[in-house]
Amino acid sequence: MISAKEALDRLREGNRRFVSEDWSGETLPSTSRRRELAGAQQPFAIILGCSDSRVPAEMVFDQGLGDLFVIRVAGNIVAPSQIGSVEFAVERYATPLVIVLGHTMCGAIQATLEELERPSGGRSPNLRSIVDRVRPSVEELLETPLRSDPAALTYHAVRANIRASAAHLRHGSQTIEQMIQTRGLRVVGAEYSLETGVVDFFDEGEAWDGGVHTEFTSGG
Ligand SMILES: [Zn+2]
Repeated sequence: MISAKEALDRLREGNRRFVSEDWSGETLPSTSRRRELAGAQQPFAIILGCSDSRVPAEMVFDQGLGDLFVIRVAGNIVAPSQIGSVEFAVERYATPLVIVLGHTMCGAIQATLEELERPSGGRSPNLRSIVDRVRPSVEELLETPLRSDPAALTYHAVRANIRASAAHLRHGSQTIEQMIQTRGLRVVGAEYSLETGVVDFFDEGEAWDGGVHTEFTSGG
């Protein structure tokens, strides 16, 4: 398996191709590739992305069948089933890189900000479970002057939520934490721009930051 850095470079190059519409012929689905992969897969990156229809991971990174292990959920939140999916892939396939892929103008983040400013109380418990996971990373922004600037508030809230999800993955699972420390697994936070198509890898996890280990464990 390639290293985390090589995996990240591959995604950067794929996103460059996507932005410049210079698609790689190798990533197009084909019968032969499908048959080749039927027996086994070895995805080189795990993407935890938002469900938004405008951010399909394979397309924005110009990757093909068998390349990416993708988990999508509104607001790219981290709940136990997302952690479990990441654990499964790093253990089973030795995948060296995890990307938390949020995006500009994310509806789940905007819905959470709206709920914090004007609590409706009327959401279904299922929808609320998403809002509740976004809330801790964005609510302190409402105590700042950003509160009166909706565009800037959304911009910072999206990034805060991506950072929180990446930190939660790094420290909310013993399995993942161990892989980071011993096998060079990296968890990187990135933001996709709906306007430009560019992915900004702004929260690059180092091999092991030796950071706080208890911060995110209680949220599950
Ligand atoms: Zn979204």
